[in-house]
Amino acid sequence: MRHDHIISAKQLSRADIEAVLDRAAEAAADPESFADRHENALLGLCFFEPSTRTKMSFTAAAKRLGGDVVDMGTVESSSVKKGESLADTVRVVEGYADALVLRHPSEGSAQMASEFVDVPLINAGDGAGQHPTQTLLDLYTIRESAGFDDLTIGIMGDLKYGRTVHSLAHALTNFDADQHFISPESLKLPRSVRYDLHEEGASIREHTELDPVLSELDVLYVTRIQAERFPDESEYRAIAGEYQIDTETLEAARDDLTVMHPLPRVDEIAHEIDDTDYAHYFQQAHNGVPVRMALLDLVLGGEQ
Ligand code: ASP
Repeated sequence: MRHDHIISAKQLSRADIEAVLDRAAEAAADPESFADRHENALLGLCFFEPSTRTKMSFTAAAKRLGGDVVDMGTVESSSVKKGESLADTVRVVEGYADALVLRHPSEGSAQMASEFVDVPLINAGDGAGQHPTQTLLDLYTIRESAGFDDLTIGIMGDLKYGRTVHSLAHALTNFDADQHFISPESLKLPRSVRYDLHEEGASIREHTELDPVLSELDVLYVTRIQAERFPDESEYRAIAGEYQIDTETLEAARDDLTVMHPLPRVDEIAHEIDDTDYAHYFQQAHNGVPVRMALLDLVLGGEQ
């Protein structure tokens, strides 16, 4: 993975994924041993959309490796506001950093931007496209909580616009997981994603209700309805509030069900679930630091 651009979960083999997860486990167990691996390395942050977890955990990861970040700041405060193109922005920022992290509202933007730079570019979310580093921390969390053997996962909510779903579903084909997709008709998986999953020989089933599959699940991955991607707000309002879970919804679930969510949540998971053993979403968010430390270490050329 040394010097590779990380654009899509589709480019990650099972061996790549396991290399990141194994190194992340080392980073979690002994962060001190990573503390000076990348002294003076600089990570360029170009976030054209809001972010809390991804941006802060990349920052924490860079600092925990002995490096630091240079941050473009918000679109409002950068030259993007003056009409600078994405290609020009990344060409400039690559001169300030050893690797770039890009989040942008347009699908395909990370691939396009990577063609203009020589330093590794990491896609931190391209519109409704992909979010491969979220997937790596999702897989880390799944490996820790449920394991990959005979994994049955339910992925619920906005499957159309949810980029974390598109990346995760693809990556799970490496682990022969049984994948159940639960959403309203209007937010089903995009045809292109379904096609790719079929091409990979994935075992997938689609549902509009959680109830019929709940008791089979090892993991339930809940997602937010992506309000910002709906062309028409009334369409969003018609769907918002559906597909919520609370402790009553989970009555038929297995006791060891792992509930995950890439966060931020709006109202998909009732707060009463936070204090149950089902809740893994805060740990999932925390796993972003060791996983991004591991990925940066590999991409920047740490010990192989
Ligand atoms: N934080 C995730 C993302 O950037 C999930 C979400 O926003 O709903 O895709």
